[in-house]
Amino acid sequence: MNDILPDEVGRWQELETAFRVHAELHGFAEVRTPVIEATELFARQIGETTDVVEKEMYSFERHDDRLTVRPEGTAGAARAFVEHAVAGQRPVSRWWYLGPMFRGERPAKGRYRQFWQAGCEHYGDVGPVADAEMIDFVVGFFQRIGISDLTTHVSSLGSGDTHARFRQAVFDFLAPKRASLSDDSQRRLDKNPLRILDSKDPRDREAVLGGPSILELLDGDDLAHWNGLRRHLDALGVRYVVDPTLVRGLDYYTRTLFEVKTSMGDLGAQNTLAGGGRYDNMIEGLGGPKVPAIGFAMGIERVLSVAPLRARERGPVCWVAPMGDAAIDGALRFARDLRKLGVAAEVDGRGGKLKAMLRRAETAGARFCVIFGESELARGVCAVKDLAARTQDEVPLEDAAAIVADRIVTPRTAPTEAGAIDAGASDAPRGAR
Ligand code: ATP
Ligand code: MG
Repeated sequence: MNDILPDEVGRWQELETAFRVHAELHGFAEVRTPVIEATELFARQIGETTDVVEKEMYSFERHDDRLTVRPEGTAGAARAFVEHAVAGQRPVSRWWYLGPMFRGERPAKGRYRQFWQAGCEHYGDVGPVADAEMIDFVVGFFQRIGISDLTTHVSSLGSGDTHARFRQAVFDFLAPKRASLSDDSQRRLDKNPLRILDSKDPRDREAVLGGPSILELLDGDDLAHWNGLRRHLDALGVRYVVDPTLVRGLDYYTRTLFEVKTSMGDLGAQNTLAGGGRYDNMIEGLGGPKVPAIGFAMGIERVLSVAPLRARERGPVCWVAPMGDAAIDGALRFARDLRKLGVAAEVDGRGGKLKAMLRRAETAGARFCVIFGESELARGVCAVKDLAARTQDEVPLEDAAAIVADRIVTPRTAPTEAGAIDAGASDAPRGAR
């Protein structure tokens, strides 16, 4: 679990803002659900025999409730969708979310126990238009934030009967090789053989080579859906790899599956930035109406480790330096007046010599230092030092805030760096560089 200190948080904010903008351009609205849900929700939806449910969830009991700190966002959103009967109010809903998720897995580069995901859920559209649009959303988002080296893997698990036939085919293929599988997979073979396809153990990877392909089993509507998806992706110019070995770590998927990977950075095996798929049975399974859905989630730490995003520089524009106790009250009021005018200001309450205050002002990256000294106060003025231009003059106390605010001629919008996103600029303080 990581601390994100103020020096790093600027890049997080850039990413979050870019995601919000991108999601809203695609018609998604934010949803915020609890971090804790009933254990049963995850056990049922993600699947009892998945790694997440079997060994990764942080679960506990309180007041006779069995609870789990969420390992992912889809189940909680679906629970909320059903609980608030959203389908009855509107036929189609597009939701996005962003927040911390928790999985007690073995930590590695790009794999943490608390990590952050941003994701989307699209309810009420059977696709494959929705599927293609969502994949294009993800690829487009990564391009938007400057991640160029992407590979998109797509597959289809079919639905109902196909899924069952594929399970049988995988079982039939692997059963004779049982002894060569990892211990985990020998156990999975009877309970959930598809999980073996997702195993990272080299013995399992070897055993599954040359196995059955689900894509050959698709028929009827499943096949039409799969062909439709590929046609729409082609029309959008989204490049993808058809990857029948794609089996994601959660059991709830039906039909479309996808993952977006990068070879940028040094993520090694943890190079999947985002994954998603269709889950047409979950809403009904939770007691809701029959509403199809598709979603994805991306891992924010992994994305940040490769995205060339730069934090917007922050810090006080104006350093306010009261010299001596008599000057403090006026300095506090001046700083407050400045902030009302949209200029970030910090009062230096540590006292000491002017030289020390000026040094602190420069360390903080301030543009101006406004000095409230005894002799100036006696004359009803304060001294305004432009730390960049290295000039200084005196201004009358009563207009000081307005005058300093006026001098801040730097544009409200910070210049956009190559590859960086110019988002949220209108919230930035005046003169923020
Ligand atoms: P992986 O096999 O890469 O662990 P997963 O199948 O467990 O992925 P999902 O549950 O679909 O992944 O989560 C979507 C994305 O969330 C992943 O592609 C990854 O970017 C991120 N993610 C998943 N688990 C972690 C983790 N423990 N630490 C950091 N990021 C994670
Ligand atoms: Mg995982």
